[in-house]
Amino acid sequence: MYLGLSGGIGSGKSTVSKILYALGAVVIDADVIAKEVLFPGTSGFGSAVNAFGSAILDNEGSIDRKSLAKLVFEDPNELAKLEAIVHPAVVARVTEIRESLPESVVVVYDTPLMFEKQLKGQFDKVLMVVADSDLRRSRLVERGLDLADIAARMDNQATDEERVTIADFVIENNGTLEQLHEQVAKVWQQISA
Ligand code: ATP
Repeated sequence: MYLGLSGGIGSGKSTVSKILYALGAVVIDADVIAKEVLFPGTSGFGSAVNAFGSAILDNEGSIDRKSLAKLVFEDPNELAKLEAIVHPAVVARVTEIRESLPESVVVVYDTPLMFEKQLKGQFDKVLMVVADSDLRRSRLVERGLDLADIAARMDNQATDEERVTIADFVIENNGTLEQLHEQVAKVWQQISA
């Protein structure tokens, strides 16, 4: 079972995925995979060196992520080129991981922009985490984020009302962590039944 997990910034996605992991799910970390697919020896590595030249390599011949980040940050065309390499490689790797596991295993993939990028179709079921924006803001401030930064990101994201329209399960994270655990456990019972 392939479970897509989504929600707005600060809604509690990472916390929910940790709870799901503790309950027995396999959680795929897209950031880790996005790095893996550029390791030396991978086809992503070859494509990146072809596209951006050996200036993106460090002394050991690995991709220097800082140089690469600088390059794509400064030029949207270069960013599009990198995404065209990384995105399909991530999809292929995730497919490989899923195919190596029995159907009965719940594989969780946290994708913040599922609604915006219309990714629902990739998943068997979608779990959406929603929470009041004031609460999300205060939790993120506590985590050290800047208010203006939070507002800018929220403005660029869909609303909870939009998100829940594509959800099979909705978790309202407006209470305590204990209440969050309870709700996740209920969803877990349904998906792993
Ligand atoms: P991001 O969009 O930034 O990746 P996220 O959706 O993954 O965030 P979390 O990191 O899980 O959200 O939660 C945001 C912060 O709020 C974290 O510091 C987390 O510990 C805290 N948090 C989440 N849920 C609760 C809760 N029910 N009670 C108290 N704190 C919570």
